[in-house]
Amino acid sequence: MNIHEFQGKSILKAFGVDIQEGFVAETSDQAVMVAGTLREKYGSDFFVVKAQIHAGGRGKGGGVKLAKSVEEAGTLAARMIGMNLVTPQTGPQGRKVNRVLVAQDVYYKGDSEIQEFYISILLDRSKGRYTVMYSPDGGMSIEEVAEKSPDRIFTEEIDPGIGLQQYQCRNIAFKLGLSGAAFKNMLKFLEGIWEAFTGTDTQLLEINPVLKTSDNRILAVDCKVILDDNALFRHPELAEMRDLSEEDPVEVEAGKYNLNFVKLDGNVGCMVNGAGLAMATMDIIKLSGGSPANFLDVGGGASAKTVEAGFRIILKDPEVKAILINIFGGIVRCDRVANGVVEAYKSIGEIGVPVIVRLQGTNAEEGKEIIDKSGLKVFSAVSFREAAEKVKKVLDRQQNN
Ligand code: GDP
Ligand code: MN
Repeated sequence: MNIHEFQGKSILKAFGVDIQEGFVAETSDQAVMVAGTLREKYGSDFFVVKAQIHAGGRGKGGGVKLAKSVEEAGTLAARMIGMNLVTPQTGPQGRKVNRVLVAQDVYYKGDSEIQEFYISILLDRSKGRYTVMYSPDGGMSIEEVAEKSPDRIFTEEIDPGIGLQQYQCRNIAFKLGLSGAAFKNMLKFLEGIWEAFTGTDTQLLEINPVLKTSDNRILAVDCKVILDDNALFRHPELAEMRDLSEEDPVEVEAGKYNLNFVKLDGNVGCMVNGAGLAMATMDIIKLSGGSPANFLDVGGGASAKTVEAGFRIILKDPEVKAILINIFGGIVRCDRVANGVVEAYKSIGEIGVPVIVRLQGTNAEEGKEIIDKSGLKVFSAVSFREAAEKVKKVLDRQQNN
């Protein structure tokens, strides 16, 4: 699960990590209030207003702006809230900005001593370890650094059994070119982000930039956090940070019915039980000349209700030209699924695209009979190949029309 920068920073702060202080605002008036509070607290008239969306590269897209007065923070917020922000990470359609973070400008004006670093902690599943990835070239996108100067990216592998070690922190601070107080503060910073990472079951923590100020503070200016969905039950307060407005509405709806749905950009909708079979089904659709419009795993206990919900979700996609239902009757019996398909078909009414159904396993024969006798425009298939051929046939026929 993704969370916003302001939420990520609140986690860091709770773990004692130094951050660029600020508060979130949903209106221009709130932004003025926040800036006023920051001014009282830190005695500075410089602020930064940052669009809060689940995508990076905001600086490049105009989602990070500097204000030189409390009033200007309000003006910038008014301009930013409600805007459609396009960044290198949002895709051309952009994202609507619903709130901004108003924070202190921490780049103390005209300062040549400041430095920006890149630091992230991530789970490396192939190694079964955590990795701290870091670079003295912060501020710009790490992909850019990786391309232009890969020798400027360093890693430190962490054994999950013993955690991040002191010598590793010193190694990192040293390679970032730090010394004196900044070196010491970096050690504290690293310990803090490691505690935050493990304490929240985070999958990815990326701070870009980490800033060294002229007075040798080390602080998080940005913060990207991806929490492990499977561990959210241990952190109800983090689960509440979910922002559904940032997620694909169709995937959110699928989640309500316990369907595992991922939107793709092809033309054949698929409804399958089991992730492995769903992958194989997508392969066979490809082989038959089509292209999957989605990944949809209805799970082991597919009922008429889930089949109907699956249908509705697939049909929301105007690109879908055919639907392939591929169910293996294990725990769920094929006749039940067949009845579910027929019921869903009746209750939805007109389904404008051909549906190919392949049922295998327990009560497959009965299932096929139900489909065949239903009088609906559903094509049944027995083998995987037959299903693929039928998909191809209906696609070809549509193309010729
Ligand atoms: P991103 O573009 O979405 O990654 O957003 P960031 O939070 O990383 O901000 C983008 C860039 O804005 C940073 O790399 C900084 O160079 C700049 N920036 C962020 N906060 C401040 C600030 O307080 N003062 C100044 N002068 N620049 C800032
Ligand atoms: Mn950033």
